[in-house]
Amino acid sequence: MLIKNGNVVMVEDGKIRKMDVLIDKGIIVEISPEINRSDVEVIDIEGKFLIPGLIDMHVHFRDPGYTHKEDIHSGSNAALAGGFTGVLMMPNTDPPPDNATVIYYWKEKSKSIPLNILFSGCITKNRAGKELSKFYELKEAGAVAITDDGNWVADGAVFRHAMEYAAALDLLVITHPEEPTIANRGVINEGYWSTVLGLRGIPKAAENIAIYRDIEIAKMTGAKLHVAHLSTAEGVRLVAAAKKLGLKVTAEVTPHHLVLTDEALAGYDTNLKVNPPLREAEEQKALLKGLLEGVIDVIATDHAPHASYEKNVEFNDAPFGIEGLETAFPVLYTELVLKKKITLEKLLLKMTVNPAKILQLPKQGDIKKGNYANLTVIDPKLTLKVSEELLVGKSKNNPFLGRTLTGWPVMTVYQGIVAYQRLLKGVQ
Ligand SMILES: [Zn+2]
Repeated sequence: MLIKNGNVVMVEDGKIRKMDVLIDKGIIVEISPEINRSDVEVIDIEGKFLIPGLIDMHVHFRDPGYTHKEDIHSGSNAALAGGFTGVLMMPNTDPPPDNATVIYYWKEKSKSIPLNILFSGCITKNRAGKELSKFYELKEAGAVAITDDGNWVADGAVFRHAMEYAAALDLLVITHPEEPTIANRGVINEGYWSTVLGLRGIPKAAENIAIYRDIEIAKMTGAKLHVAHLSTAEGVRLVAAAKKLGLKVTAEVTPHHLVLTDEALAGYDTNLKVNPPLREAEEQKALLKGLLEGVIDVIATDHAPHASYEKNVEFNDAPFGIEGLETAFPVLYTELVLKKKITLEKLLLKMTVNPAKILQLPKQGDIKKGNYANLTVIDPKLTLKVSEELLVGKSKNNPFLGRTLTGWPVMTVYQGIVAYQRLLKGVQ
């Protein structure tokens, strides 16, 4: 396959150049200003960006156990439609992957899907926070990280032992930082809006205290700690301090925390109920600053689909989580790149190169000769209104429904095969 005339974003060298890219047997074999071949399929993408396939290290595919919300197939379709070629599945399924069986089930079920689906295992049995799961078995089966995402491992001794074993096995530990007795069944950020709306608040302290403890244990054990979905300024400061000490600590932020604040909850829209909650503008500013300064390494969607009948209930009773894979790139392109808050190259560093490094994925994350041809074509002029019909995933709990966004993925190539193509009425 030959992809011609794309504005190719080579993320690591921070440049965009008009190039032709030749792919053979799933690998990028040549990148030059002009390649002419008549013996291969030629795709002309004049006027569009060619970016590395996006990598999302935080998705919930709800399979097994909650496949009415999403399953591995529908989740993969959503990922490919969003321009992603790699995803890391979180373990809050039923049963959860606290042993190799679920990993084998995932492997088998995802075998024929043109997407790099990566697996996480649980830190504790049944994600209950009491007894460690079998890390060696999980790693042997193919888990690239362990996490109890959705729950913080509140017992410090259990978490310490988990980090010791993880360090010995070189396993990445992902923490969902939320001290549960301080969060105390809150449903939105504790502050002005929780008071005005009469909703129970989650103080920022719940997150900050958890991050502080986890970093201290990372310091004791030398384990690799990845802090999921940062939402507070103090969290950014703690991660920055840990990095300064040379600890193996990395962090992520979600698109929704970067572009929405708790003020958006004024209408009690349950499609904005997320965990951690949307915070104030001040916190958001610190998250963006942390991203620009390299404290926050990764943007991850925390794609958390729920069926509409589950979300269409009173705010207090609705589950946390929003559908995020399909709109992540256009949301960030529209709200951050076009508004000149971040460059496209820097945005992609957080969505391709850095997650590939943290997850130790060889030959992925950037457009380079010898890398897998995992590539996404972005049409920077394509403007679409987010609607339920537009979304291909099983659940439609997207907080940007009704919003008009620019810069959509129009083609996703996985190892040299066109895995997704956006077909639009009236467009081409
Ligand atoms: Zn989480």
